[in-house]
Amino acid sequence: MPETVRFAPSPTGEIHIGNARTALYNYAVAVQTGGSFILRFDDTDVERSRAEYAAAIEADLAWLGIEPSRLERQSERLAFYDAAADRLRAAGALYACYETPEELERKRALQRARGRPPVYDRAGLALTPGEKAAYEAEGRRPHWRFRLPDGARTWDDRCRGEQMVNLDSISDPVLVREDGTYLYTLTSVVDDIDMGVTLVVRGEDHITNTGVQIAIFEALGAAAPDFGHHNLLTRADGEPLSKRDNPLSLTRLRAEEVEPMAVASLAVLTGTSHPVEPVADLAALCARADLASISRGPATFDPADVERLNAALLHEMPFEAVAPWLAETYGVTDPAVWAALRGNLGRRRDIGPWIAILRDGPAAVQPGSADRPVLEAALQALPAEPWDEGTFKGWTSAVKAATGAKGKALFMPLRLALTGEEKGPELGPFFLLLGRDATARRLEAALARAG
Ligand code: GLU
Repeated sequence: MPETVRFAPSPTGEIHIGNARTALYNYAVAVQTGGSFILRFDDTDVERSRAEYAAAIEADLAWLGIEPSRLERQSERLAFYDAAADRLRAAGALYACYETPEELERKRALQRARGRPPVYDRAGLALTPGEKAAYEAEGRRPHWRFRLPDGARTWDDRCRGEQMVNLDSISDPVLVREDGTYLYTLTSVVDDIDMGVTLVVRGEDHITNTGVQIAIFEALGAAAPDFGHHNLLTRADGEPLSKRDNPLSLTRLRAEEVEPMAVASLAVLTGTSHPVEPVADLAALCARADLASISRGPATFDPADVERLNAALLHEMPFEAVAPWLAETYGVTDPAVWAALRGNLGRRRDIGPWIAILRDGPAAVQPGSADRPVLEAALQALPAEPWDEGTFKGWTSAVKAATGAKGKALFMPLRLALTGEEKGPELGPFFLLLGRDATARRLEAALARAG
């Protein structure tokens, strides 16, 4: 069945890799079922929502490869919420309350002191028209609570199996603030009904909300969608990721030129029964994403995995995947350059200095005088062109035979002469790229400097 899903971030900050997990699981369901993915900004909180954050979230999703089928902003849909709130008021399911935050806090303190759970006492429900008028005359404005029905709500969670929330132990939620603005608890249900959402995939921190929202669906006369609550990515110290985890914000990772598929693979595969490994493209990752494979425990996430997966992806990345970028950034169009250098990259931009070394010669360390015999033999044994994959092996074997040098004593002087660096990409393909003239020039220059 084609599922209609949505990703509903509040644009109050940069989204992080944990939010990417939610977005990607929703997207994967849409792709797998031939359904649709709605990007819906929960931006009714006018004080904290910012257009820049919404724009950044759109760009982050595009970077991951997610193309929403539809984009909505709750701030543009207030008439729907007004109508729903009116319906609930008319049915007696939404009632006015006048307590101040301080009064509510006093009530809770008293309940706790008596050993009772701090559940709202529904005083608002008992107010007479006269009492309400008296509050209004004092200048108080009401906030509006939803009267939760009695009992529990259960559902068959796509990630967690049978779930139950006992509504008797929850305070009637505020759905409309004093200033008339709506809380997400209501707006989300109204939109899910209106947009025909069939499945809500979100973090397990929303499980209690789901019990409440199922009751709101009922009160609005609509069938609730299915739900799947995934575990949350937590840092190694057990703390959840928050919007303050800036190094893990998608905007930051994007600016750092991390590979989007490294981030997406981690976001989807961490905390599941699948191995955490890089998957090269989003379609393949979506095919692997399975709500039922998500573990019940927290998904512990090591930021170092970003680097690990990023490097692993680059080491296997085909030339076609980087061709436009290589041409534009470095003017490189030869697939052999990518093939020779990719195995040494942690980030794709690490290739820059190696392209410079390839073109302009070694910049840093040079061989010393002890390396002369190897360098001299290397220059002598340098074969005529054309070269092929076997040339490097033949050449170094000849140098080894001439000097008796092997292992590091053989390869380090050559590496230093050709690259100027003690570490770097595999020498054979690099040598092949350089070709005879450049290799000879570098060996001669190294000999001149080796003294
Ligand atoms: N704005 C909510 C959040 O970011 C949406 C939760 C939901 O998907 O319903 O947590």
